[in-house]
Amino acid sequence: MNSIKVAAEQMAPSKVVCVGRNYTAHIAELNNELPEQMVLFNKPNSAIGTQLLATHNNDVLHYETELCFVVKNKRLVGIGLGLDLTKREVQAKLKNKGLPWERAKAFDGSVLFTPFVELSDDMQHFSFELTINQQLIQQGNSDFMLHTPAQILAEITDFMHLEDGDVIMTGTPAGVGEVTAGSVFSVTLYANEQCILTHQWRAQ
Ligand code: ZN
Repeated sequence: MNSIKVAAEQMAPSKVVCVGRNYTAHIAELNNELPEQMVLFNKPNSAIGTQLLATHNNDVLHYETELCFVVKNKRLVGIGLGLDLTKREVQAKLKNKGLPWERAKAFDGSVLFTPFVELSDDMQHFSFELTINQQLIQQGNSDFMLHTPAQILAEITDFMHLEDGDVIMTGTPAGVGEVTAGSVFSVTLYANEQCILTHQWRAQ
């Protein structure tokens, strides 16, 4: 089983639950409709990777930087950032046919996580950024999400049990694009405008 690091603890998520379309600017950039119901999909434990890949089985990958939470005892206990890697062309074809997204979203190495920081009650107003080769590419802020982390947790657990270690990805802001081999991806997370973590991957 693949694992994640939450403070000093290693945890093995059984699944990663992802929210689609949680920021209006990203909905607009992909010409998607504002969903009536929260869009949710899963990535299995086998999707969790450690290396940022530019391609998988010759398909080009797109990055989505997302605020992520770890669940324990049915509560959000850890916060970090993740890259939801997507085969955008494959996804577009599947979407058009009304087919499931696993081939575009659940392949091996389709999600990467930073280490997670323990979540405390005084941490609020989360914001994050992605730079690629030191250029600012994506910026997200929990205040601009359509669904708050607490609403997302409630919606998921209404129909699906979350095991300890499971991760929730809260959707990407605008600015998604292709991963290019050799690029340096650097992500930074702020709580109340204080930096609480920073992490880098070099694309291969
Ligand atoms: Zn995503």
